[in-house]
Amino acid sequence: MGLLHAVPSHRRPVERLATVIGAERYARLRSTAAEFRAGFTGRTVWNVNSTAVGGGVAEILQALVGYVEDLDVAIRWLVIHGDADFFHITKRLHNAVHGQSDGSALGPAESDHYRRILAANAEALLELVHPGDVVLLHDPQTAGLAAPLVEAGAVVVWRSHIGVDDQNETTEAAWEFLRPYVIAAHGWVFSRRGYVPRWLTGDNLWIIPPSIDPFSAKNQDLDPGTVRAILATIGVLDGAAAAPGRFLRPDGSVGEVARTAAVVADSLPGAGDDLVIQVSRWDRLKDMGGVLHGFARHVAPDRTGYLALVGPSVAGVADDPEGAAVYRDCLAHWRSLPAAVRSRTLLVTLPLDDTDENAAMVNALQRHAGIVVQKSLAEGFGLTVAEAMWKGRPVIGSAIGGINDQIAPGTGVLLADPTDLPALGAAIRDLLADHGERTRMGSAAHAYVRDNFVGDLHLLRYAEVFSTLLAQARDGGRPGQAGSLAGPSR
Ligand code: UDP
Repeated sequence: MGLLHAVPSHRRPVERLATVIGAERYARLRSTAAEFRAGFTGRTVWNVNSTAVGGGVAEILQALVGYVEDLDVAIRWLVIHGDADFFHITKRLHNAVHGQSDGSALGPAESDHYRRILAANAEALLELVHPGDVVLLHDPQTAGLAAPLVEAGAVVVWRSHIGVDDQNETTEAAWEFLRPYVIAAHGWVFSRRGYVPRWLTGDNLWIIPPSIDPFSAKNQDLDPGTVRAILATIGVLDGAAAAPGRFLRPDGSVGEVARTAAVVADSLPGAGDDLVIQVSRWDRLKDMGGVLHGFARHVAPDRTGYLALVGPSVAGVADDPEGAAVYRDCLAHWRSLPAAVRSRTLLVTLPLDDTDENAAMVNALQRHAGIVVQKSLAEGFGLTVAEAMWKGRPVIGSAIGGINDQIAPGTGVLLADPTDLPALGAAIRDLLADHGERTRMGSAAHAYVRDNFVGDLHLLRYAEVFSTLLAQARDGGRPGQAGSLAGPSR
């Protein structure tokens, strides 16, 4: 299959979810899966995206593909191949969909290259996909695959995990670039209603928020001793690990955090020191630099405690070419801080050699943090918010995009203006000073994630999308034709 890379997955026992979601939700998941399976014999659900590691889409697929396998529905996950120019174009598209332009146009040359790379991937994909299979294409990197797959008889859904509520000239131009590719699909899924481009109408549009897996290496319970051991091992906490930092891998085997992180710091926090973190890819729209600036200027002078900016190793995320430059900028910023402030801030890059080990590192950091920040300037959803909330952490997040859907009143703090550094500083200082409020928010946050963003809900919603489109295909109409569905768009 040449260009495509098949991501290996492991069955994740669905029955474990029952302990979190309760008997009723669990029974619904089981019965929906049984119904879906009955009409899907001999077919496969294919997921196609652009990276197996790093970022929210990979994180979600790792969990959902494993659960679907356990529900005995055939499912596969493939990663496309692209060259540096392709990922440069798709990164610009990603930024532009988020309203950020580098000033240059995405014109015919870019369109040609985008089409050429995806045509080569489509050729490989068509050797695998059979008529009647369902293909779920994720994000702009894969939109150009829709037309050839539809032509080959597959039922094709394009899912955008990104978007902004306020469209501007830049977002419109990005969507115009994508439009001919996107409209070829039979159905579309967005994380928020406001993200849907205005020209995409009709019935086959669904709004589905992302989800977390409570049992992944990223989110599973870790006792405080294990958390401290992992953080000492990776080099974020002062002192040696008292015991091995163990965690459960998705295949049920026991893993151990053995690698170290690359930590830039003048001094390290002790286990009892307050720690504020932001975990993100090194992406300008995550504004790690702004968090550093806000903490240095508005928190460090008045309060004790440390800030750690945590991201993946910048060599590791193939579809994110800007990572190294953003990290370099943060490093330069860190170096320029006054020594007293600098010694309270850490830049941490986590190795990606072993995805589960990387996830366990993030897990330990989120569990140890007294406050988790997500000061993004644009955010499709922001899985890091749900992850931290699941762990009972109070999150201070920008009131933008999907973060608005996650931080409900009383479950965290929304920053009305993500660029307002004094407000960020005040929110951090207030929470650092009020342990009781942190605990109250944290437990409300955990309950809110359980009720809204655990994977069973995500799977039920996908089952509805696929069943609807498969029924349309069975009824003889081309799925996606306007008017082929009775109900309104959801
Ligand atoms: N993440 C990770 N390792 C890192 C940094 C981030 O596993 O070193 C994960 C993070 O925990 C989250 C995902 O990457 O699961 C980021 O998803 P999010 O939706 O927050 O943002 P995206 O990167 O998709 O824009």
